[in-house]
Amino acid sequence: EAKEQGRGQRCVYRESYGESINKRAQLTADLRQAQQRGELSMVYQPQFAAGGQRLVSVEALLRWSHPLHGQVPPDVFIPLAEQQGIIRALTDFACQRVLDDLTPLKLFSTLDHVSVNVSAHDINDSNALASFISRFSHNAQGAELIAAGKIQLEITETAVMQNIDHSLQLLQQLKDKGFRIAIDDFGTGYSSLGILSRLPVDELKIDRLFVRDIERNQNDLLIVRTIVAMAHALDLRVVAEGTETKNQVDLLTELNCDRLQGYYLGRPVPAAQLEALHGTRHPDSQSDP
Ligand code: C2E
Ligand code: MG
Ligand code: MG
Ligand code: MG
Repeated sequence: EAKEQGRGQRCVYRESYGESINKRAQLTADLRQAQQRGELSMVYQPQFAAGGQRLVSVEALLRWSHPLHGQVPPDVFIPLAEQQGIIRALTDFACQRVLDDLTPLKLFSTLDHVSVNVSAHDINDSNALASFISRFSHNAQGAELIAAGKIQLEITETAVMQNIDHSLQLLQQLKDKGFRIAIDDFGTGYSSLGILSRLPVDELKIDRLFVRDIERNQNDLLIVRTIVAMAHALDLRVVAEGTETKNQVDLLTELNCDRLQGYYLGRPVPAAQLEALHGTRHPDSQSDP
């Protein structure tokens, strides 16, 4: 009887495992069609100056609305796209949509930049520089916006570290054209102070892993304090990701983070809803002088 039970459990396990493989295969096939079926869109998460009152920039985030499975998280479909070699089409879509969505907004002229996430595959492409320029060239204002420093590319620390020599060279070329560069998910990779000091970057984004427990965990507090000190010594701006509470906003402001991003201050929203944030202050900050 016990044997049968065991077998039954294995069957259940095998079935759901098989199911998830099928779902993955299905998603992969569907992802190739997603763009032409109009299932992809961009949302924009506001970024605030320390203190959490002044909206200063936005980060563009890709969304896939699947007809059967609903919202598929980018943490699922971006790696799929990378494995399938179709990430470049998604990056093309993201860059072009960002300009189409944001350039008509009055708000956009008041922001100092829009951040676009790029994949390790995008930067390890031998044509990466030309690709990034052409991605923003379909829009008449694209070239001006790049030159004006209004376009920031977010590259994860891990992606940069995959091929340091290439990254150093490409990032410098991108910067020479006027792109701003942010290192995303900082603290989860293994870059040394030596490498960081040679990278032509503008901004470090502290991974939300270190923000989550900052009120309770002394190690996380120490890590954030150290990243801020190091970044400022190198003249880089520091952004804290994943601020979910008022306490975190206050603590990270005290720790001298330059900018804050997170659900407490603002969730990612479609471009049409961004304008409503303009000039509005966060509810909890309204009574502040
Ligand atoms: P990321 O670039 O580090 O983006 C931040 C992620 O954290 C976003 O998740 C955002 O919605 C989420 N987030 C923001 N504030 C909070 C918070 O207070 N709490 C929590 N728990 N989460 C918060 P999202 O949109 O699901 O994206 C996940 C990741 O997928 C991104 O991480 C990025 O690596 C990747 N991604 C998203 N859009 C694109 C894209 O257009 N291209 C590429 N290559 N990657 C993208
Ligand atoms: Mg990012
Ligand atoms: Mg990040
Ligand atoms: Mg991330």
